[in-house]
Amino acid sequence: MLFLTAQDVKTGVPLADKTTVIQALADWLEQDGHVAAGYGAGMLAREAQTATYLGQGIAIPHGTQESRHLIKKTGIKAMHLPNGVPWGDGEKVYLVLGIAAGSDEHLGLLKQLAGTLSRDGLAEQVKAAREPQEVLQLLQDDAGSTTEWMLNAGQVAVKVSVSALEQLVEQAVSRLLLSPDEEKKLQQHEAVHIGQGWWLKQTPADDKPRAVLLTTASSAIEHRQQPVSGLLVLAVKGVGHKTLLTQMTEWLVAGRGAELAGQDSAEALIAALERGPLSAATNERAAVVRNEYGLHARPGAALVQSAKQFEAEIKIRNLDGDGRWVSAKSLMKVIGLGAKAGHQLVFRAEGQDAEEALNALEEAVSGGLGEELATLAAVAEADATDILHEPDDIAANTRVRGVSASPGIAIGPVFVDAPVEFEYPQQAEDARAEQRKLNTAIEQASTELAATLSRINAPQARDMMAMHRELLADPSLTQGVSCRIKQGMSAAAAWWSEIDSVAIRQAASPDALLAERAADIRDIGRRVMARLCDSNPVVTPDHPYLWVAQDIGPSQLVNLDPGRVLGLVTVGGGASSHSAILARSLGIPLLVAAGGAVMTLQSGTEAILNGDDGTLWVAPEVSVLEQARVCQQGERDLADLAWAHRHEPAITRDGYRVEVAANLGNTARAAEVVEAGAEGVGLLRTEFVFMARRSAPDLDAQLAAYRSVFDALDGRPLVVRTLDVGGDKSLPYWPEPKEGNPFLGVRGIRLCMQKPALLETQLRALLMAAGDRPLRIMFPMVADWSEWRWARSLFDKIQAEVQATNVQLGIMVEVPSVALNAGVFAQEVDFFSIGTNDLTQYTLAMDRGSAELAALSDGLNPAVLRLIKMTVDAAHAEGKWVGVCGELGSDPVALPLLVGLGVDELSVTLRRVPLVKAQVREWSLSSCRQLAEQALKASDAPTVRQLVGAAR
Ligand code: PEP
Ligand code: MG
Repeated sequence: MLFLTAQDVKTGVPLADKTTVIQALADWLEQDGHVAAGYGAGMLAREAQTATYLGQGIAIPHGTQESRHLIKKTGIKAMHLPNGVPWGDGEKVYLVLGIAAGSDEHLGLLKQLAGTLSRDGLAEQVKAAREPQEVLQLLQDDAGSTTEWMLNAGQVAVKVSVSALEQLVEQAVSRLLLSPDEEKKLQQHEAVHIGQGWWLKQTPADDKPRAVLLTTASSAIEHRQQPVSGLLVLAVKGVGHKTLLTQMTEWLVAGRGAELAGQDSAEALIAALERGPLSAATNERAAVVRNEYGLHARPGAALVQSAKQFEAEIKIRNLDGDGRWVSAKSLMKVIGLGAKAGHQLVFRAEGQDAEEALNALEEAVSGGLGEELATLAAVAEADATDILHEPDDIAANTRVRGVSASPGIAIGPVFVDAPVEFEYPQQAEDARAEQRKLNTAIEQASTELAATLSRINAPQARDMMAMHRELLADPSLTQGVSCRIKQGMSAAAAWWSEIDSVAIRQAASPDALLAERAADIRDIGRRVMARLCDSNPVVTPDHPYLWVAQDIGPSQLVNLDPGRVLGLVTVGGGASSHSAILARSLGIPLLVAAGGAVMTLQSGTEAILNGDDGTLWVAPEVSVLEQARVCQQGERDLADLAWAHRHEPAITRDGYRVEVAANLGNTARAAEVVEAGAEGVGLLRTEFVFMARRSAPDLDAQLAAYRSVFDALDGRPLVVRTLDVGGDKSLPYWPEPKEGNPFLGVRGIRLCMQKPALLETQLRALLMAAGDRPLRIMFPMVADWSEWRWARSLFDKIQAEVQATNVQLGIMVEVPSVALNAGVFAQEVDFFSIGTNDLTQYTLAMDRGSAELAALSDGLNPAVLRLIKMTVDAAHAEGKWVGVCGELGSDPVALPLLVGLGVDELSVTLRRVPLVKAQVREWSLSSCRQLAEQALKASDAPTVRQLVGAAR
C-alpha cells in the first residue's frame, strides 16, 4: 500500500498544463530514485489511453504496464496546483498524485482516496490548501461521519447485454431515477477506470444518495482501450457509500475484479462484496511464471498436460493480464493469457483431486514447465523490452501480417537491427563541461547532416535533412536540455530525457501526420546520442538484405544504400510517416506495424516481403520462394515497361481514353508529377500546406505554394481540394471542439463555413496563382445543397474580383447523399471527383482507420459501385466530367470497373501513374462495361473481386 508524507507533497506549484505537470512529477520521482528516465513517457502514454481524473479536482497519473520495468521502488509525489490545470473533458485538477507502483498497487491508494472523494466541498478545500500538511489531512479518510448504506438486489444487475460503456451508463441512469440536474452532472463526469474492467461514474445527489452496480454479459467490451466488465454509478451525498467503495476496491486490490464481475446473480454479487475477496476461495494456488519467454506454446502445452492428468475442473488466470478465469486444460486459452516472465498466475480447482492438482500445477510452473528457469534479472529484462520473444511465434514458412506502407516484392535474408543501447551516467558534477560536450555533439551532428545534404539529390530527402538540421538548432529543445544539465544531469541524460519528452508530446498529437513526426525527433535524438556516448555505428551486412527494425528513422532511410537494402520491415510505425513517404519515393517495399516478434528472427533468415499484400513470409518453402521470384520479376518487367511508356496516353484496346492524373500532398513534389507521366494533378490535398507550419499560411505563403505547382505542371490542369480538416486531421493552431463522432462532425466544408475568412483567403490565393492556367477547385465533404451554394457564392464573389480565366468548380463525392442527389448537383457543378476513401467509410459505416474493419471496408462493395454509377450517369447527362481520386483508383482490380462505370479521370498515387496507364491499355471498354454491369449485381466485394480476377 502506498502512502504520502509531507516530503512527498509540493504546494503552490505554478505549472499550467497537464503534460508539464506529469513530466515534472516523473522528474521528481526520478530524482528521488523511484523510477528510471523515461517513466514520464509511460505516464503520458497511460494518459492517452485512459483518463486519470478521479473527481473533486484530484488526478492520479501513473505509468503503463509497459513502463513498469522503469520503476525502481514504489513512490508517490503530489503536486498542489492552486491555479488549476485542465485535465481534459472539461475537468480541472488542483491536486495531482504521480504514482510509481508495481502491479496494481495504486489501487490501495485509490481505496484510501475513495473514502474522501465524496466529501462535500472537498474540491474547494483541496484548491484552497496552502501547506503539505493540509493536503495530507484532506486526504485522510474520515470514516463514519454519516450512516453507511448498502446495496440491495434492486440496485444490482448482472450480465447486462450491452456493447459499449455508454449503454451501460444509460441503463444505470434509468435505474437510478436521477433528477435532470443529477443527470446533467453525471454526464459531465467522465467515467474512471478503477481497474480490472471496473468503471466508476458519479454525480452529487440532490437528496438521497443512491448507487447502481452493473456487470456486462460480454467480455469483449472496451472503452478507451480498457476492458469494461462492470460499472458502479453513484449519486453521492455524505460518505455513506464509502463502505461500498471500500468493498469494491478490496476486490480490486486483491486483483480479483474479474471474479467479482463474473458473479451470476445480483444476490451473489452483493454477497461477494460483503464477504470480501479473502474468504472467497481457499481452493486456489498462485505461482509466478519463471520462463524467460513467458508461457509460450511449449511450456503452455506442458501446463495443460499436467492439468489434464486430474479429474478436477481447473481454472487459471493471469493477475498481470486481464484477470479472467479460463480453463487450464485448453492450450488456446492458456496461451491467450499472455503470461510473460514475472507474471503471477492463480489456479483454482474443484473436484475430488483438487488439492493434488493444485500442488502439481504450482510445482510445475515454479519448476519451469520443462524449460530452464530464467534468473530474476532476466525476468525483469524480458518484461522491459516488451518484445514478443517467442521464437515459436514465427515458425518456418509462416506469414507475418503487417500494414503495407510501400508496395513491391523483396526477397532476401533479414538483417535484424536491434536498437543500440546508449550507456551514460545520469548525473554529472560539472554543468559547464556537460554543456560544452552537448554543444560539440550537436555541432558534429549538424555537420554530419550538412555532409549528407550535399550528397543527396532527391528533393524529398533534402527537405527532410534540412528539417532535421532546423530541429537540432531549435532553441526550445536546447534550452530544455540546458535546464536539465543545470539541475545536475549529465549531457547525455539531459539530452535523451528532453528528446523523450518532446517526442512523447509530439506523438500525443491528435493528428496522425503530426504524431508521426515524433520519429524525426527521436532520429535527431539518436544522432546526437551517438556522438555523446561515442557509440559505434551498427555494422550492416555487405550483401543485399531486408532491414528489420523497431522503427526506421527518416535519416536512416535517406542514408541507406538502395543497392543493398531490398526492403524494410518495422515493428511499429504508420503508413503515413515520413519514413513511409520516403520509402515510397525510393521505391523500396515497406511493411510497418509487423509486431515485436519480427525482432526475434535470426539475421540471415530468408524471407519474402510483400509490400502489396502487407506480409512477411518467413523462411518460405522452396516452391513459395520460386513463385515469389516469378511474381517479382513479372512486377519489375511490368514496371519497366510502364515507365518506358509513361508519357503516352492511357487508351483502352478499343480506343477509349482515360485521363490519369496524380494525387499530391507536398507541393514541393509537383515536378515529379510530370516526370511520372501524369496528365495533371487530380487531387492537391491542400491541408498539407496548412499543416507544416505553426500558424495558418497567409495569402502570400499560399500564393507561393500554389504558384510553384502551376509552374511545375506547365499548363497541365490542377485539381485543388480546398482545406479539408476535422475528422482525423487537425491543425495544431486551430483547436476544434471535441466531438463524439469527429468523422460525422464539423469537418471539411462544414468547418470552412465556420471560418469563411480562411476559405476566402485560400480561394483568392488559388485564383491569383492560376491566372490563365487550368484550375479546378473542389470542396470536400459536401453533403447538402446549402453547403454547395454557400461555397459557390463565396467563390463567385472572389472570382468576380480576381477573374482567373480557366477555372472549373466542382465537389468531391464523399458522402452518399451527394451521390444520391447527383442529378441536382450536376446541373450546377462543372465536375465531380469521387473520394472513395470517405465514400466507402460513410456508405458502409466503417471507420476508414479501423484495422479491425480493414478487410470488410472495401470500396468494391456493390453499394459503393452503385453510388459511383449514379454520380457518373447524372454528370454525363449534364455533360460534366467525373474523376476518382480515392485510393480505389490505384487498385488494379477496381480499375476495369471504374472505367466500365464511365469514370473519365483517375487520380492516383504518384508512383502508380505509369502502372495505371499501362493497366488501362490492357482492357477494352466493352469488357470493362460488361464487368461493371455484373459487379453492380453482385452480392459483396469478394464476389466482385473474384469476378474481375476471372476476367484478367
Ligand atoms: C477520399 O476521401 O477518398 C479522399 C480522396 O480524400 P481524403 O483521403 O484526403 O479524405
Ligand atoms: Mg476524403
